[in-house]
Amino acid sequence: MTTLSQIAAELQGYDPQAMSATDVQLFLSRLVSPVEDAVELPLFEALGRVLAQDVVSPFDVPPHDNSAMDGYAFAGRQLAGGAALELQVVGTALAGKAWQGRDGHVKSGQCVKIMTGAIMPAGLDTVVPQEFVSARNDVIGIPPGLLQLGDNRRLRGEDLAQGQPALLKGELLTPARLGLAASLGLKTLLCWRPLRVAYFSTGDEILSLGDAPREGAVYDSNRYTVFGLLSRLGCQVIDLGVVRDDPALLEAAFTRAAAQADAIITSGGVSVGEADFTKTMMKKLGDVAFWRIAMRPGRPMAVGRISSVKLASGPDNAHLASYRNNSTPEGAILFGLPGNPVAVMVTFLAFVRPALLQMMGASSAPPPLLRARSLEAIRKKPGRTEYQRGWVSAAADGTLQVKTTGNQGSGVLRSMAEANGLMVLHHAQGNVAPGDEVDVMMFEGAI
Ligand code: AMP
Ligand code: MG
Repeated sequence: MTTLSQIAAELQGYDPQAMSATDVQLFLSRLVSPVEDAVELPLFEALGRVLAQDVVSPFDVPPHDNSAMDGYAFAGRQLAGGAALELQVVGTALAGKAWQGRDGHVKSGQCVKIMTGAIMPAGLDTVVPQEFVSARNDVIGIPPGLLQLGDNRRLRGEDLAQGQPALLKGELLTPARLGLAASLGLKTLLCWRPLRVAYFSTGDEILSLGDAPREGAVYDSNRYTVFGLLSRLGCQVIDLGVVRDDPALLEAAFTRAAAQADAIITSGGVSVGEADFTKTMMKKLGDVAFWRIAMRPGRPMAVGRISSVKLASGPDNAHLASYRNNSTPEGAILFGLPGNPVAVMVTFLAFVRPALLQMMGASSAPPPLLRARSLEAIRKKPGRTEYQRGWVSAAADGTLQVKTTGNQGSGVLRSMAEANGLMVLHHAQGNVAPGDEVDVMMFEGAI
């Protein structure tokens, strides 16, 4: 297990007070490691999970040459002269019911009516779609110049050859990959177990739903955005609610979280000048760094590990025993996010999500950022990464354009709710003029 100071020593110019967004990503990628337990899951339960082993095709897919169209199968060498062809129909091949024929042999000048997916009769290699032929009794006419040998035939193994890796360890199981696994006849897939992520909100001013409103207090929205973000990632969310700025309550929440979870996410209590209980407790219970990140929104963030202390056994803690046995011996990774609702979502997308994917055993690179033309001027200081909430749309000429969604304050969750993506204005970038291209991260697929 690498400690924070070991990672810090390896990174050039590490300065917790001046972290760039890329420094943060690099640091986190060295801090976290993939889970080690795998589970065999039925296909219907494997969607969104990460494969724990390569899947090798046990046979050719498709297993036979077959027709890609409804039409007539014949031997394509007869096309060589380039003239029109007349062929006599000697039988029918249906999907799931191969044509046998009397001696299983189709001569020159003959063809077999064939349906999509039906096995190509022996010796036949070309299919003319039925809409292109003129049919008269049991004779069809094929116009000249229409076809080449091999047209409309799917070759055995063209989807997957036997022994070829069909799916790779570390791939996220998408609908297409589930279907591919099913096409190989596989009933189950070996996947990494889901991550358990505990979350709680901190702050004396935070109300849970159902609490009576009171002056200066706000309802806890972070609990719901984080729940949504984690659920979309396929994590098991352990909801620990709102924890007040009280050392005993905070200690209990961290201890419980570290005993049950692979990662702990908190919001609030990490900015400069906060009532210090959250930070003090993080320091007491773990190996934690407090960063100032050159970004907007965001800025303060705490990162590290909370040790999983031994809980006294007894009826109160009996329900934790099964979790404790599974959780990593080093404790849980901590992501102490700022409190502002937009900052929570942005820091999650920029830093927490990639780190959790790494912990989930996922090997895929993040989806590429898109380029879109800014419809407005945006003031931007070089020296920090800014994430503006935007609406990306297609312009009349088909290119992408983006405009910001209203007030970009880090507490204005509406700017996020009205957006379909984030404009990523990079560290070195300056002001944006109308018409300039900017990078955008689309939410669809990410959240
Ligand atoms: P903090 O980082 O604790 O200083 O919080 C920054 C701002 O975010 C304050 O205005 C908080 O009231 C607000 N905030 C903190 N936690 C939450 C939460 N869970 N839900 C909504 N707003 C929050
Ligand atoms: Mg606070």
